[in-house]
Amino acid sequence: LKTTKYLIIGQGLAGTLLAAELMERNADFLIMDAFSPHAASQVAGGAFIPIVFRTLKKAEMIDDYLPALFKTYISLESLTSEKFLHLIPSLKLFRPEENQKWQEAKETPAGEFIKELVSQVNIPGLKPGFEGAVIEPSGWVDTKLLTAKMGEWFLKKNLLIQEKLDYNNIVIQNDGVVVNGSIRAEKIIFCEGAGAIHNPWFHNAGFSLNKGEILEIEAHGLPDDYIIRGDVFVMPLGPNRFRVGATYDRKNMDHKPTEAGKQQLLQKLDAILGLPCKVISQHAGIRPSIKDRKPILGVHPGFPQLFIFNGLGSKGVLYGPLRATEMADFLLNGKTLPAMVNVNRYL
Ligand SMILES: Cc1cc2nc3c(=O)[nH]c(=O)nc-3n(C[C@H](O)[C@H](O)[C@H](O)COP(=O)(O)OP(=O)(O)OC[C@H]3O[C@@H](n4cnc5c(N)ncnc54)[C@H](O)[C@@H]3O)c2cc1C
Repeated sequence: LKTTKYLIIGQGLAGTLLAAELMERNADFLIMDAFSPHAASQVAGGAFIPIVFRTLKKAEMIDDYLPALFKTYISLESLTSEKFLHLIPSLKLFRPEENQKWQEAKETPAGEFIKELVSQVNIPGLKPGFEGAVIEPSGWVDTKLLTAKMGEWFLKKNLLIQEKLDYNNIVIQNDGVVVNGSIRAEKIIFCEGAGAIHNPWFHNAGFSLNKGEILEIEAHGLPDDYIIRGDVFVMPLGPNRFRVGATYDRKNMDHKPTEAGKQQLLQKLDAILGLPCKVISQHAGIRPSIKDRKPILGVHPGFPQLFIFNGLGSKGVLYGPLRATEMADFLLNGKTLPAMVNVNRYL
């Protein structure tokens, strides 16, 4: 029987970030993950932006989220010698009738992130008639590469077990759990993303899953200085390659890319793009979203051995680093979790 203090289930973005926090604190842990190419972290756009376009306000708690984001991803980059964090300004397109709204927003606290208002966007490849707002900091995190490279790292250190957890094979004991008959842990932390709806202890922790689809396209002549944002984002990935996302669907909870999803994205793309493009690939995944759109962290009310770190929803890249720190402080030092993210609001 292998023994460990903390057993993390799932090595998507949530499990990876939590494991990195535990590692930094020299905690004794193992991760169990059954890789799935459909996991949210494998298909995510990975974009982050500091303001909310619907309200033109600063994103909630952005002054706490951003420093944690930079610190975490940069430190994982130096650990692995890989590049995960791509800083690139966003150009939000809007119609002249919205100009007043943006001028006003520039004078509010959100103005800190509105670097420039452009009265006539003149970018080759875009349809004419748009004004724009340049937003910084903004960018994206390559969650697929991050989970892959960190996975390799954990594997090398014998910290990763590539197995599927069978919930029927968890034996809860007074002072811990035995999993799959082969691992004994004092505490188990579930980070299964959308897979958590099958978790017998946490399936009712407020989940409101949300399927997303995303495209990779080839387009020649579109510059790569910005993430361009209309009703979809167009994110430069490399020479003439762009990621276009994303759809939101609360009904169909499978991993299949659909023709309807593709058409929806292409239509929104067509509203801003003035040149031809070719779809290279299409991906779908399920976002582990929560009813109140806040992550869920904490311990099960009936079983002090069982923990959850989940609910990163559509903003995992931004929420993950700060919340993983809080989760590690809670696990290791018993530090109180902020009420807004404590899973006890649902259980
Ligand atoms: C189309 C799309 C676009 C997105 N775009 C963005 C974006 O632009 N910006 C942003 O911030 N976020 C975005 N997201 C959201 C982001 O992907 C998620 O917030 C984040 O990846 C969730 O990470 P996670 O680790 O909780 O879940 P997951 O990535 O799903 O990882 C869960 C892991 O647990 C494993 N697992 C599950 N059950 C078991 C089990 N029983 N045994 C062993 N292993 C198990 C899975 O195999 C998986 O590896 C997007 C999501 C989608 C689907």
